[in-house]
Amino acid sequence: IRNAEKELDALPSITLDGKSIRVCANVGNVEAVKKAASYHIDGIGLFRSEFLYMENDHFPTEEEQFLAYKEAAMLCEKEIVIRTLDIGGDKALHYYEFEKEENPFLGWRAIRISLELEEVFKTQLRAILRASAYGTIKIMLPMIISVEELNRAKEILNDCKKELKEKGHPFDEKIKIGIMIETPAAVLCAEDLAREADFFSIGTNDLTQYLLAVDRGNPKIKQLFNEFHPAVLRSIQKVINAGHAMGIEVGMCGEMAADERATKLLLGLGLDEFSMSICEMAKIKKQIRSINYKDAVEMAKKMLSAATMEEVMRHL
Ligand code: PEP
Ligand code: MG
Repeated sequence: IRNAEKELDALPSITLDGKSIRVCANVGNVEAVKKAASYHIDGIGLFRSEFLYMENDHFPTEEEQFLAYKEAAMLCEKEIVIRTLDIGGDKALHYYEFEKEENPFLGWRAIRISLELEEVFKTQLRAILRASAYGTIKIMLPMIISVEELNRAKEILNDCKKELKEKGHPFDEKIKIGIMIETPAAVLCAEDLAREADFFSIGTNDLTQYLLAVDRGNPKIKQLFNEFHPAVLRSIQKVINAGHAMGIEVGMCGEMAADERATKLLLGLGLDEFSMSICEMAKIKKQIRSINYKDAVEMAKKMLSAATMEEVMRHL
């Protein structure tokens, strides 16, 4: 890291009126955890676990995954949120045959795969649990649409805990399990989900795609993909309020967390944690340091009544 960047990075993420905000890193492999740990991060807010599955020629074994998660836990002294397998959609595995689907992004992906291929899911959960003996690890489930999915995942996690206990493996008995909020259903059921989850993290990439019915990867409709759409902003507010009403923290690990134009608004809405690629962190921390939290709350209130994106942008 260049010196100037390092100095900037070392300053705390605290608003002008003294509110501390967590700024965490999004990473996609163990190397990136090592890099992130050399910065002043408040944790890893999103550890995408897909690399283990996509770089292999087989479903990674419990031991292979355990070693990777353990290494990550030992490299980073702060907490790490490991997201369980999020494939399907545009991400396939060359050693597993996926049925052809008309609408893969509305199809067999993420938590749906984990709940159906239960042994694959349990292998991952046992590996994460075992690694939790070496650091602070949290589990995060992608693409949740219902309380049933979350509760089923928690049952399976409990089975894994029992199995490990029988084998005498140590793990964090109180490991936290949270969910990504990236579907309209999760937004609308946020109050119920908050009763069952230990934390929320808003995935604005998928949430925007599904709320606006705009494919996040289609260049033809790129101009329609906009996180400042009133529907997205109101969803974010609803999710934060639902989480806080149940006493759980709400973070964001989608691209919007790294957008400087959104920082004040997200602070004003009450977001507890921003998680993003390492290279975006210094910029967002600087932005947080320039904001007065009380002003941000006032601005956010005004912004939520905006009927158009133009109006939102004017307030920004
Ligand atoms: C998201 O959807 O916002 C997210 C963080 O997950 P991914 O980009 O990996 O789908
Ligand atoms: Mg996503």
